[in-house]
Amino acid sequence: MSDLSRLCIHTATTKPWSVEIAIEQYARAGVAGITVWRDALSDRDPAAVGRRIRDAGLEAVSLCRGGFFAAVERETRRRAVEENLRAVEEAAALGAPVVVLVCGADSGQALETSRRQIVEGIGAISARAREAGVRLAVEPLHPMYADEKSAISTMQSANDICDEISAQNVGVAVDVYHIWWDPNAPAEIRRCGAAGRLFAFHVCDWRVPTGDLLLDRALMGEGCIDVPRFRRIVEESGFEGYHEVEIFSTRYWSMDQSNYLDQIIEAYRRQV
Ligand code: ZN
Repeated sequence: MSDLSRLCIHTATTKPWSVEIAIEQYARAGVAGITVWRDALSDRDPAAVGRRIRDAGLEAVSLCRGGFFAAVERETRRRAVEENLRAVEEAAALGAPVVVLVCGADSGQALETSRRQIVEGIGAISARAREAGVRLAVEPLHPMYADEKSAISTMQSANDICDEISAQNVGVAVDVYHIWWDPNAPAEIRRCGAAGRLFAFHVCDWRVPTGDLLLDRALMGEGCIDVPRFRRIVEESGFEGYHEVEIFSTRYWSMDQSNYLDQIIEAYRRQV
């Protein structure tokens, strides 16, 4: 049984709730951390949201998400860098120490080209992020998203990119949903930890059968991912941060969110 002192929930998990309601409900339930999605900040002052988070006794864990650096068009890549610099400023104002990066891919070019542009894009923002006290976490995405969302599909690829960029504030977000299938994932998580760049740990489960490849994630324990095993591996690799519940699910979003939050906490206690 896990206590709740390292439980963090992503606002996207309880998407029907505004960020204000999410803060209030997570705090009431004893959740310790919150990862804020940028869409939850629309029309809000991130500094004010950050104060509200701290006043509620929660910790701002990450801002999700930046990235999408890869594009055939140079102008699109330039705008992506600008947008990521805005995300860094938002994270700093919010008081979130990490921006999670879904790095991007453009199906009109080779994955190698997209990866080169990702290195350039992160390289263009890492110094400003360091000044702002913000770390950047490359999240490898399941290869089913390699067409348009991320040319970084494995922990190895994320580690290689970090080696290439070689900035202390650039590391990796491990999300079990994306890497559970990969026989090299455990060794690459250890490599990541040994390099001091394991910045975030996201949990959920892979529903069997999965009804939708984006919006049918399951609660921990409902699917085929051995979440406790991955928790053990990240912690043996030196990770001491939050366990972040990140579930995109139209079926859970259609439920009463208070009941759903109870289910999340129950699943976390038993299955993480
Ligand atoms: Zn994630």
